[in-house]
Amino acid sequence: MADRLPLEFRLSRLTVNSLRNLCDTHSVSGASNLLKNELVEFVKANFDEKTLLDFCSAQEEIYFVENMAKAIKWSASKKIVQVDPKSDYTIVNAVFAMRRSDGYEEYNIRFVNQTTDDVATSCECVDSREKGYFCPHQMSVLVRCLADGLFTLDQWSGPMTTEGEDLILANVFRRKRR
Ligand SMILES: [Zn+2]
Repeated sequence: MADRLPLEFRLSRLTVNSLRNLCDTHSVSGASNLLKNELVEFVKANFDEKTLLDFCSAQEEIYFVENMAKAIKWSASKKIVQVDPKSDYTIVNAVFAMRRSDGYEEYNIRFVNQTTDDVATSCECVDSREKGYFCPHQMSVLVRCLADGLFTLDQWSGPMTTEGEDLILANVFRRKRR
């Protein structure tokens, strides 16, 4: 899913902690006082590309499944996830709105599916705009669309993982049948 992104970018969007953990796990010392951009250069110099690619994939998998679990909960709330009723398989417009302890979040989300094999997805949040993640806000909208039958999981050609799919199948459709 993220394989097309350059390794440097994939490393730079990881947290400082996860990069330090990588060094600790492999007993590579010297990483503890480095800033984020120095740390990215440091791991590039100290690990082979295969190790770094595998590490990025594993971290991205964790990001996806942890956020999907949250998204499934949020998607059930019509206050948090508002999908424009004119939305369909070819275009989805939605608003994610949530009051948090530290303020109020509101993002516009859009899926555009004009061809059969690729869907363009976007959200206004930092994770999506700057880090290129399929963020939890987009995930919530996706889950709502699936739950409402706008399209099926098989028809979805956007970001997905096996674990994410299992979570959706187990929680969204089981919940609906009850
Ligand atoms: Zn977002």
